[in-house]
Amino acid sequence: MNRLYHDSEDWVNQGACRQYDPELFFPVSSTGIGGADTALAKAICRTCVVRQECLSWAVRAGESHGVWGGTTPEERRYLRTELAPAS
Ligand code: SF4
Repeated sequence: MNRLYHDSEDWVNQGACRQYDPELFFPVSSTGIGGADTALAKAICRTCVVRQECLSWAVRAGESHGVWGGTTPEERRYLRTELAPAS
């Protein structure tokens, strides 16, 4: 978790990822060589009590790197597209 950005957010201190190496949540890719780390990070997120808060923040912030709230950057881009108001 990137503590520099999120110390003001209360949910950050409850994240399951705090017990793991932060690099696990920033794999080199979502598939291929980084696929195993991505899968493990997503599994940890599934156990996290603040997953919804984390995912909501990452989508709103446009976080473009890492696993947040159990999602990859590609999945969050899709969510932002789906949640964007129709023009
Ligand atoms: S959902 Fe995942 S990235 Fe977000 S705080 Fe929980 S464990 Fe960390």
